[in-house]
Amino acid sequence: MVTVHKNFPIEGIETVPCRVDGFRGVVKTYLIHDDDQLVLVDTGASDLDSDIIVNAIQKLGRTMDDLTMCFLTHNHGDHVGGLKRLRPLADFPVVISEIDAPQMERQTGVKPDRLISEGDTLPVLGGVKVIAMPGHTIGSLALYVERVETFIAGDSIVSAGQHLMASPPFLSDDPQLARDSIKRLLDMGLKIDKVLMGHGDDVHNQAAGPLNRILAEGRGF
Ligand SMILES: [Zn+2]
Repeated sequence: MVTVHKNFPIEGIETVPCRVDGFRGVVKTYLIHDDDQLVLVDTGASDLDSDIIVNAIQKLGRTMDDLTMCFLTHNHGDHVGGLKRLRPLADFPVVISEIDAPQMERQTGVKPDRLISEGDTLPVLGGVKVIAMPGHTIGSLALYVERVETFIAGDSIVSAGQHLMASPPFLSDDPQLARDSIKRLLDMGLKIDKVLMGHGDDVHNQAAGPLNRILAEGRGF
């Protein structure tokens, strides 16, 4: 059984739900913040979503000028669509994987400032690890926030009812790779208590159980 909560507070991570037209309904973006740093994870689908993000930053008592980075988990339109409007608002670096960068640039007209990959660390909340989760897109990246034992999955993991699953085949560039990425993640032995996903309900405690069950026979396909 997966325990899901909506808008459950995590110290240093703010969930910002954005709107997507169509069946997927909501895409979540995240603000990871401490005294010095403010990192936006994904940008929603549209200009409207960029307004939601700007408001969320103001609610934290910060401004767009405080934004120290925009990290993109992957290049799908519902995750990069708000970037076009956010880009001219302030001087923050946009980072994405090398593989997903060209399509992001084609969609948004925004050039990435830095290409990022597993092994890189974002300098916020004591260090946030970048983890490669290829499959949903080949360049998909996720984040592990060790301080609060939280995995920000992008679309590499989705929640469906009472269980988690790997990015489903019809949404994945390489479904087998998507499942292999989960196995590799589990083999890393990270202590993951919470999983935050781009779509669907998040897991807010004891995520190891549902994560391990993703790869159980027949689950997720
Ligand atoms: Zn996606």
